Amino acid sequence: MKGYDRLLELQELDTSVDRLEARRRHLESGRDVDEARAVVEKAEEQVGELRMALDSIASEERRLEHDVSSLEQRIAAEQGRLYDGSVANPKELQAIQAEIAGLQSRKSRLEDEELGQMERREELEGRLPPLEAELKETRERLDRLEETSEEELGEIAADLERRRVEREGLVPELDEELLDLYEDLRASKKGVGAARLIDGVCQGCHEKLSPLYLDRLKRTDGIRRCENCRRILVLE
Ligand SMILES: [Zn+2]
Repeated sequence: MKGYDRLLELQELDTSVDRLEARRRHLESGRDVDEARAVVEKAEEQVGELRMALDSIASEERRLEHDVSSLEQRIAAEQGRLYDGSVANPKELQAIQAEIAGLQSRKSRLEDEELGQMERREELEGRLPPLEAELKETRERLDRLEETSEEELGEIAADLERRRVEREGLVPELDEELLDLYEDLRASKKGVGAARLIDGVCQGCHEKLSPLYLDRLKRTDGIRRCENCRRILVLE
C-alpha cells in the first residue's frame, strides 16, 4: 500500500505539532505569568504591611518623645519653684515634691514604653531587607517570564510553519484510504493513529498481541491493525 512505510513519519510530525500547539495554548493562557504576578502581589503586600507598621511605630515614638520632653519641662519648672525661695510654706513645698515624684514616675513609664517601641522597631527593621530582596526577585522572575513567553511563542510559530510545509509534502505520498483511517483514529485515540509493533507489542496501547493474531498480521497485505486498540500497526 502506497506510503505505508512513511505513516510513522507522519505520526511523528503530527505528534510534535500537537505538542507544540498544547504548549502554545498553555503560554497564551498566561497561567504561568498570572501565577508569578500573584507571587509579586503577595510580596508587595507583605512589604507594604511592614512599612506601615514601621511608620506607626515611628509616629508613636515621636509622640512619646514629645510627652517625655514636656514632662521634663514641667519637672524643671517645679524644681525651680522648690529652690528659688518663692515658696516658703512647708506643706506647699511637700506638695511640690510629691508633684515632682509623680511627674518623674510618669516620665519613667513613658521612657520604658519608648524603649519597648524601639525594640519592636528594630525587630521589624530587621525583617524588611529579606522581604524587599524577595520582592525584587519575584519582580525579576515575572519580567523574565513575560519576556521568554513572548520569545517561545515566536519560536513555536516558526516551528509549526516548518512542520506544516513538511506535512504538505508528505501527505500526497500516502494512500488515501490509509490516510482517512489514520485521521479517524487520531481523532478518537488521543492523537495517535499509527504505532510501531516492537517484539509483538503495540506501541500505541502497549499490549502484547497474541501469537495467533501476530501470525495472521504478518501474512496480511492490507492495513494492519492492533488487535487491542485498533490502531494501524507498522511492523519493524
Ligand atoms: Zn494497540
